[in-house]
Amino acid sequence: MTTGRAGEPVRPTPPTSSPATPEDAMSSTTVITNIASLVTNDPSQGDGSPLGLIQDAAVVIDGDRVAWTGESSKAPATDNRVDAGGRAVIPGFVDSHSHLVFAGDRTQEFNARMSGRAYSAGGIRTTVAATRAASDEELERNLTRYLREALRQGTTTFETKSGYGLTTRDEARALRIASSHTDEVTYLGAHIVSPDYADDPAGYVALVTGEMLDACAPYARWVDVFCEKGAFDGDQARAILTAGKAKGLRPRVHANQLSYGPGVQLAVELDAASADHCTHLTDADVDALASGDTVATLLPGAEFSTRAEWPDARRLIDAGVTVALSTDCNPGSSFTSSVPFCIALAVRDMRMTPDEAVWSATAGGARALRRDDVGRIAPGAYADLALLDAPSHVHLAYRPGVPLVTGVWRRGVREI
Ligand SMILES: [Zn+2]
Repeated sequence: MTTGRAGEPVRPTPPTSSPATPEDAMSSTTVITNIASLVTNDPSQGDGSPLGLIQDAAVVIDGDRVAWTGESSKAPATDNRVDAGGRAVIPGFVDSHSHLVFAGDRTQEFNARMSGRAYSAGGIRTTVAATRAASDEELERNLTRYLREALRQGTTTFETKSGYGLTTRDEARALRIASSHTDEVTYLGAHIVSPDYADDPAGYVALVTGEMLDACAPYARWVDVFCEKGAFDGDQARAILTAGKAKGLRPRVHANQLSYGPGVQLAVELDAASADHCTHLTDADVDALASGDTVATLLPGAEFSTRAEWPDARRLIDAGVTVALSTDCNPGSSFTSSVPFCIALAVRDMRMTPDEAVWSATAGGARALRRDDVGRIAPGAYADLALLDAPSHVHLAYRPGVPLVTGVWRRGVREI
């Protein structure tokens, strides 16, 4: 959760973490029973695998938390009962990487790219212009729409970023809007060098580490930088992340997406929660990730939408790296809010097993946000659950493109 800091403004209660009414949270218990297969991500449960899979299971929700998991026949008495009808239940997805505060779209760029034009980071400028021109209400409306879309597909926790404003006013505005919907807000003033500073990148880094950071830090938990050729080099990225840390923000890095570079090793050195993309990795990069606590967050929607080389998930997992899977939902390079779609890609094209992909999209996402209260179904964790219209979580990869999520509980409240 966001840690309070001196001088931090009082923020509205995020609707994503609020029960519908106090009574829902305070006074009632509910058992979801007749679950054919329950993914708990608690290895002490069920089959003892990382998924902690329990067959013929039940979950008891007390207020906004999970109170009990186990076999259906042993479930304690509760106020309410929901029959899962022999379907599977998994933890709600934790989408630890998205860019949802923006205006406009980039249909023409996508269409051109699918007709053979290469992707370059410069396409972000199109969205920057549209976002600056949008009203607060328009940005809020867009964000709410994509969050609803994600919720319908089982996402109950999400991170989102600034990065399409690139002025002090527009970056702070984006973060303020995001912070009314989630605690996992990331300051990404260093998405690209602002077009206003095209001839003075050092001046832009000074802005991002100075006045802009001061205005943005109160609304954010994380600081991020796009460490890439055409965006920010290793020295600039280090300066930006270090300045953010000094303001109480925790680092995460867009690293090694389009080319080899210093981003991953810098992320590990600075104890970033996550290095995101990780598509072009040397052996030394993999070793660094395996030796530290930085999660490798893979974003296959980006490779899919740009026809780029897949990240090598198998290599990372076999080396002992913790892997998360997220959407990278953004209008330029990955315009999907669907975690199930990313799971299917990860299994089909990145050689993850269905179990690994589901773990990475739930518990892995939680690790990438350094959270242990989401991404698992275990006593004490938030009651964030997705009910699948399928007997097993494997169907998420086995039945790609099919809307399998048929029920969603967030903080103990049934939303879908
Ligand atoms: Zn991104």
